[in-house]
Amino acid sequence: MNCHGIPLRHDPRVHLAQAHGFGLRRGWIGVSHDFFRLPAREQRAIELHEEAHLRGHHFAKRLAFLPLYWTPWGLKLAIAQELEADAFCASQGFGAELLRVIRRYPSGHFYPDKPRRIAALEQLIAAR
Ligand SMILES: [Zn+2]
Repeated sequence: MNCHGIPLRHDPRVHLAQAHGFGLRRGWIGVSHDFFRLPAREQRAIELHEEAHLRGHHFAKRLAFLPLYWTPWGLKLAIAQELEADAFCASQGFGAELLRVIRRYPSGHFYPDKPRRIAALEQLIAAR
């Protein structure tokens, strides 16, 4: 299994899916059992979102700023990265599917500011 050449690996610890590693070449996407129960287009939307995290070296940036991670600034960075990954997914034509997934699942620290993500995705979908 892979997403644009990025390996997908079963990882029961993650919530749906999570990008791991640094950049497109050395990264991989961990996916949970629940991921495989989703419709194919929703799986694709999640893959694209995680691919954008790898493309943007988001994990490396979070590590670099680890001392600030639990501050308001760190939360801003996390939100900006989520919005960037959502925008990439929408630009590939899977915004509506990602929106459905986000609406169904609760937000947590790693999926911050659900209302803002929903509003941003709705705007991107309407603009297409
Ligand atoms: Zn994300």
